[in-house]
Amino acid sequence: MPRPYILSETNWKTVKSEDYQLAVLPWGATEAHNYHLPYATDNIQCDFIAAESARMAWEAGAKVIVLPTVPFGVNTGQLDIKLNLNLNPTTQLAIIKDIAATIQRSKIPKLVIMNGHGGNDFKQMVRETGQFFPDLFIASLSWFKVVDGNGYFEDLGDHAGEMETSLMMHFAPEIVLPLSEAGDGKAKRFKISAMQEGWAWAERSWSQVTRDTGIGNPSNANETKGKAYFQEVAKKIAGFFTELCKLDNNDLYE
Ligand SMILES: [Zn+2]
Repeated sequence: MPRPYILSETNWKTVKSEDYQLAVLPWGATEAHNYHLPYATDNIQCDFIAAESARMAWEAGAKVIVLPTVPFGVNTGQLDIKLNLNLNPTTQLAIIKDIAATIQRSKIPKLVIMNGHGGNDFKQMVRETGQFFPDLFIASLSWFKVVDGNGYFEDLGDHAGEMETSLMMHFAPEIVLPLSEAGDGKAKRFKISAMQEGWAWAERSWSQVTRDTGIGNPSNANETKGKAYFQEVAKKIAGFFTELCKLDNNDLYE
C-alpha cells in the first residue's frame, strides 16, 4: 500500500483532496563512503529517517508530505574523488527557490529541508529564499545533529564511521560490504590551532585528510546500535513535525 505521507508513493487521487500542512524536503549527497558503504548512503539515510519521522507525525494527526530526497550535495572539498557528484551551493539555492514556489502554489504553508550531508548548509539559503515567499514558513535541520550519538556509539565518526555504518546495517544490509573490507577511517586534522579549537573554519581537502574516504573507525558498528539511534532520531523529528503542523504561521512566538 502506498504510504500517504510519501509523495513518490502516493497518487493524484489522494493528493488532490489532502490538506497538507508541511512539506519535507530531504537532501543527501552521492559520494564515496569508505570502502564498504554505498555512494547513496546519505540518501538512503534521509529516505528512512524522513519516512519514519513522517509516519509517526502522520499517526499523531499531522498532515506531512515527504518529497523525494535530492540526491546531490555540496562536495566542493572532494572534487578529486571519482564520481563524488558535486552540486554547488548556488545550484542548491536555485533548486530550493523552485521547490518553494511549488509548495506555495500547492497552498502548503510550511517547508522543512531535512539535511543528511555534512557538506550541505541550508541556513543562509533559508534566509534568502524566505524573502521571496513571505507566506511560507521555511526551516532546516540536520538529522545527525538531533540526538547526541555519543550515548549510542563508542566512536561516532564523521563520515562512514561507526554511526553511519550502524545505520546502514539497519537500513540496507544487503548493500553494505563486510567490515573486513572497510578501511580504518583514520583522518588527519589541520595543523592550525584555531581550526583545532573550532573557531576558524576552512574546507578540508578530503583526499589529503583520509586514505579510504572515511573519517571515523567503523569497526564497532552493528545493526542494533543503528536501529536504536534511528528510532530516537525519528521520534524527535516526528515531534518537531507534529508541533509545526499545529501552529499557524502567524502565531509562532510566545
Ligand atoms: Zn554520509
